[in-house]
Amino acid sequence: MKFTFNGAAGEVTGSSHIITINGKNILLDCGLFQGKRKESFEKNRNFLFKPEKINAMLLSHAHMDHSGNVPTLIKKGYQGDIYCTDATADLCEIMFRDCAYIQTKDVEYVNKRRGRQGKTLFEPLYSIEEAEVACTKLRSVPYEKTFKLFDDIEVTFHDAGHILGSAIVEIVFVENGQKKKLLFTGDIGRTDIPILKDPVIVKDVNYLITESTYGDRKHPPASDVKGKLEELVNEICESGGKLIIPAFSIGRTQLLVLLLNQLHDEGKIRKLPIYVDSPLSSKATKVYSKHRECWDKATVDFVIGGERPFDFEGLHYTEDVNESMALNNASGPMIIISASGMCEAGRILHHLKNNIADPKNTVLIAGYMAMNTTGRKIAEHQPEIKIFGEIYPLAAKVDEISALSAHADKYEMLDYFKRCGTASIEHAFCVHGEQNALEHFSGALLEAGVSNVHIPSPDEVFEL
Ligand SMILES: [Zn+2]
Repeated sequence: MKFTFNGAAGEVTGSSHIITINGKNILLDCGLFQGKRKESFEKNRNFLFKPEKINAMLLSHAHMDHSGNVPTLIKKGYQGDIYCTDATADLCEIMFRDCAYIQTKDVEYVNKRRGRQGKTLFEPLYSIEEAEVACTKLRSVPYEKTFKLFDDIEVTFHDAGHILGSAIVEIVFVENGQKKKLLFTGDIGRTDIPILKDPVIVKDVNYLITESTYGDRKHPPASDVKGKLEELVNEICESGGKLIIPAFSIGRTQLLVLLLNQLHDEGKIRKLPIYVDSPLSSKATKVYSKHRECWDKATVDFVIGGERPFDFEGLHYTEDVNESMALNNASGPMIIISASGMCEAGRILHHLKNNIADPKNTVLIAGYMAMNTTGRKIAEHQPEIKIFGEIYPLAAKVDEISALSAHADKYEMLDYFKRCGTASIEHAFCVHGEQNALEHFSGALLEAGVSNVHIPSPDEVFEL
């Protein structure tokens, strides 16, 4: 068999790997590269492989760095289906359209300037129509239902506990008379995180492609999240400021809403206005509400107890732009949860622009911030932040709840693989991490008994 690593190889975003079994090229994920604008522009438009040569695609989950370039893949000639779980298909439908809309608006904005300068105009990465075509290619398969992809190649999606619908992909195949099992983690979630079930253990794995995002980190226990959030909300109530939370529309937003709901219920925080200010987050929350098969027992019990996890007094989902703009002039205390998660686009930029210079306010970092993103610069407490081409001093408090991460840390990932059994793993490939995390985690896997561990570079090929 052959492994070809196209994206998230030696870096975090742009997840995309090809495995070739019995001559069939199977693409695992097709994510957007997110980082420096010029580099992203080039990488997302130019695949390192020929889309028409791909025979099938398996999608681990709906996060844009795993799914967001699927419409480009189809636009450039991929003819096959895209297999994923039911919830992933529902989430991708809203994500693809939203991404196309943002791309179109961004290009319109840039083209105005380019037009004046007499330069050639850009095309959006993909249009809304192209996003809609991509949605028709999604084929959903429930968790734990094994299906035949090709002769001698079977696939099963297991719950990864990372976001709604996220899957650890198991591929069992026979090649040269030998039966083997490959596991692709997509992103692995933490255990005991609200809403979602824990990652499913898969035994007797021979080949492993694993994420390594926090391969060099230890998160505080998941149980610490609620206490820390309570503290921050109460601080904001004291200062009369705004708690601004850049959050991924899928996953972080719903987790924050549920925790605030519970804190409110338990009387631990005052009633204050809480705004989810992102149309995409509102739509994603509806998908979260629909897919109860993905919920953990505690969330199901919460509903049985008469509660609605994503709806409570004081919580508003703003959809209208005017409603969003009105928040600029409204006085605190209040909480604004908005997208995008890495502060690269969307309404969050307006809230940051209007609020980061005021020391009464707090920005809460609630998820991973890739290198060179505005979110990373805020997380690093850089004194000045550039937003829409203008510089703003960062005087607001910046706090972080790393326990809110949707990714398992080094110890949780190791524990997961030890429970799967490391002795059977002949080759592991560490992807989806910054260099330090990749090196650290690959060393940890070797120590844990994996025979061979590799850190692939982009476009690197391994024949085994
Ligand atoms: Zn993810």
